[in-house]
Amino acid sequence: MQLIAEPNFPGVASEVSSTEHIVAAVTQAIVEHRLLPGAKLVEQRLGDRFGVSRTVVRQALFRLSELKLVRLEPARGAFVAAPSLQEAREVFAVRRMVESQMLRELMACIKPADIRKLKAHLKAERDAVARIDVPSRTKLLFDFHVRLAEVLGNQVLIDLMQELVSRCSLITLMYQSADNAQKSNAEHGQLLKAIENRDANLAIQLLHEHLQSVEQQLTLAPRAPHLAPSSGAERAQPLA
Ligand SMILES: [Zn+2]
Repeated sequence: MQLIAEPNFPGVASEVSSTEHIVAAVTQAIVEHRLLPGAKLVEQRLGDRFGVSRTVVRQALFRLSELKLVRLEPARGAFVAAPSLQEAREVFAVRRMVESQMLRELMACIKPADIRKLKAHLKAERDAVARIDVPSRTKLLFDFHVRLAEVLGNQVLIDLMQELVSRCSLITLMYQSADNAQKSNAEHGQLLKAIENRDANLAIQLLHEHLQSVEQQLTLAPRAPHLAPSSGAERAQPLA
């Protein structure tokens, strides 16, 4: 049964969970190539599909736009973002500049407690890679770099890293293979080991090799789009 309009005002908690549910469903559809870059997301249809108000749909679309997965155009509506390979290359060029210096500064001030937090993060990455949870593993693999920025406690740097990594999320969601995700996780482990050993030169060399390998995975040999296995009506239905 679809509830287009609730007789009572829905609680804040249920609106939040509906919003998150739509965000997760659209992200999954992108991962499975059921929604392709440039596809239009129609508010009314999403509202009918999930049985929620257009207000909730708009909140979900806004959240997806913050994640750089959706582009909102005034008077035209919402579209799945379509980042170009050129944009991905430019993002990686900026990341190399910013993250090299970040690593240099981080070596001087990182504490054992920071290392423990980063190790726990690596474990979460490894678990998401193992259960082939593409949205979670993509987010966690990117967040590792944001976690490094957090060690320095500079909010401007943290925001900048967040922005840089999210600009690659769509391209990564669509094109990073399971093997490549596993490789990234292993490279994060080696990098953290070098940081723990206070070996700045090795850490910076490993960072460069890691960023180069991720960039090449996404821009040179992307995973071929695959058709989602049709394990139920939910998966077979297009979202837009
Ligand atoms: Zn990484």
